[in-house]
Amino acid sequence: MAMGAYILSKGRLDEFVHHLQKAYRVYGPVRRRYDHAFQEVSSAEEMDLGYRSTTLPPKRLLHLRAEMLRWRDGDLEVVEPGVDRPLLLFAVHPCDLNALLRMDGFFSRAYRDPYYWRLREASAIIALNCLEPGETCFCLSLGTGPEAREGYDLLLTDLGDRYLLEVGTPKGEAMIRGLELPGASKADLEERRGLLESAKRRFKRHIDVEGLPELAAESLDHPVWRMLGEEGGLAGCTSCLSCGSCSLVCPTCYCYEVYDAVDPDLRGGVRYRELHSCQLLEYAEVALGGNFRAERWRRVRQWMLCKFGAAAGGLYTSCVGCGRCLRLCPAGIDLTAVAEALRGDGVGEPFPA
Ligand code: SF4
Ligand code: SF4
Repeated sequence: MAMGAYILSKGRLDEFVHHLQKAYRVYGPVRRRYDHAFQEVSSAEEMDLGYRSTTLPPKRLLHLRAEMLRWRDGDLEVVEPGVDRPLLLFAVHPCDLNALLRMDGFFSRAYRDPYYWRLREASAIIALNCLEPGETCFCLSLGTGPEAREGYDLLLTDLGDRYLLEVGTPKGEAMIRGLELPGASKADLEERRGLLESAKRRFKRHIDVEGLPELAAESLDHPVWRMLGEEGGLAGCTSCLSCGSCSLVCPTCYCYEVYDAVDPDLRGGVRYRELHSCQLLEYAEVALGGNFRAERWRRVRQWMLCKFGAAAGGLYTSCVGCGRCLRLCPAGIDLTAVAEALRGDGVGEPFPA
């Protein structure tokens, strides 16, 4: 729910960015040779606000490799997480914004994780409504786009020669203080509504999520998993390569591993944590050489069950429909096609799980 709506003319965008830089390191979508990436910018011209998606999601700036312990000659030091200068994520699309909200939930469940929250709380988000859905986007089906509804400090909508700027939080209000922006009119708000309605009509990809968590949970022995894992894939894709790219690019994949790195002299070391992926062989390894998901199809199944809301006791659907995994999977595996296969018949006989 917006706390106020203003107009920011495109001619003032650079002034706006410089204004924000007084308090934040500003990261926005920058065009690179083959893709876009969230990078630190020093001016508005460096950003491409017409971007469709980035390869890596904004999580890469908030879910960081973190040192937790250091030891040396018997002395142990707990490493406190710190923030040098708050981060501002500029022009975050609604799917990625919703992914961050899911990540917030994950890092608050059993306890409030300081290694995530220290930076997250100090950061701010300026979201950007999506007016041009990409070929693989299906956020509309999941209610996570193309309009941002919550979780932003400020929200931009491109109205051609100007942005509609809506305030979502007191932090957002503070971010525009001193800019003296003109208020938005009813006609501006009506234009926003029309543009978003038009965007919704242009989605090419959909997923039927009605009852999907329950269906996925009941489909542990469905033949589709072996087809994806080792039998040549579904129509249009090959078998999973276990590369982990889908986890890397997924804005909601938050699982991490904790490692101990011991110094060569064996007198000291560091314990740190880093993003991991359940698609990788070593993820489910346990002591004495055991592995709960040694076969590839079990790992694909695990990942998809999580995305379909059937893992973690069906607590959440961890897909926001950003389309990255569809676009970037080298085997061409398409989550929406897998959901359809679970609903259909004609993909073979069940096998023992
Ligand atoms: S990106 Fe594709 S091939 Fe790689 S692990 Fe994920 S599903 Fe398998
Ligand atoms: S599962 Fe795929 S489409 Fe869904 S949020 Fe992750 S990367 Fe995006």
